[in-house]
Amino acid sequence: KRKSVTVLGLGNMGAAIAHTFINQGYDTVVWNRSAEKCKPLIQAGATAAETLDGAVAASKTIVICLLNNTAVDEVLRQLTGAVAGKVFINLTSGTPAQARVFAEWAERRNASYIDGKILADPTDVGTPKAQFMFSGQSSAFVSQKHVLKKLGTITYYGEEPGAAAAEFMAQVAMGYELLIGFLHTLRLVQAEGIDIEAFAHRIAATLGGYSSLLVGLSTAIKSGKYSPDLGPLYVQAALFDDLIGHRESQDVETVRMREVKSLMDRRIEDGHGDQGFSSLFELLGKQ
Ligand code: NDP
Repeated sequence: KRKSVTVLGLGNMGAAIAHTFINQGYDTVVWNRSAEKCKPLIQAGATAAETLDGAVAASKTIVICLLNNTAVDEVLRQLTGAVAGKVFINLTSGTPAQARVFAEWAERRNASYIDGKILADPTDVGTPKAQFMFSGQSSAFVSQKHVLKKLGTITYYGEEPGAAAAEFMAQVAMGYELLIGFLHTLRLVQAEGIDIEAFAHRIAATLGGYSSLLVGLSTAIKSGKYSPDLGPLYVQAALFDDLIGHRESQDVETVRMREVKSLMDRRIEDGHGDQGFSSLFELLGKQ
């Protein structure tokens, strides 16, 4: 008997996942809210379920990939058939709290739940480049590992259902924080008449240098010894006045730079002007 897997959701990512399972020789059953998205999958060899309940009944392994967890919640609420013994693998982006709600939902129905998070472009799904993060019941994860490995490089973050989501949210947030800073900088670079692509190449070549700095900052924070990493804060704050003034002179938005400067000023006022940038961490909790 061939192994079977059901995929709920055939957007860009869900379709890439379903194609990967088809290519790997799985009997792939697909369902999508708007049925027309099933057509290319049927052509590729999948079976389209007539109903959502039919799709879930068709396989033990149910992979879900929808726009967000509100959509997942809506879809799960529409299920009327029994789900005991099923393994739900939800690859939809979302928060740790949402993952815990779905894990409880499954537990109440004697089903298993694995929360998954994807760091990948749909075109890379099915290759080692695609990163998949998982958490939840380890026995369920072990039983599905052979299926999940087909999707890309997989990492298991532990039994706590929200663990993968916690790591995912942190990594995605870090990426966006970095990238908005990059966009701001490109504004400035362009205003100065520097070619932004050539600049991007130069900056990309410096990124490796941040590795040791990131670890150093976290070590300082853990120990509470805020050595003057990038120089003492009072020196950095003086530089910030110039950074902000320069941006203003080029009509580039300054709100985030001003936020950083005000954090520096507060630390200096509190008598910590000789500490490093890492010490701003003290001000970033809920005050
Ligand atoms: P798409 O917009 O391409 O697809 C969204 C899917 O969700 C469609 O199948 C859509 O159905 C379905 N959907 C939305 N709302 C509902 C609802 N209320 N009820 C039922 N189905 C619903 O998104 P992607 O496939 O790109 O993304 C899916 C998930 O994968 C997201 O959580 C995303 O963050 C994550 N992801 C995506 C990446 C990417 O590059 N695309 C990268 C990493 C993660 P319908 O066709 O009927 O509208």
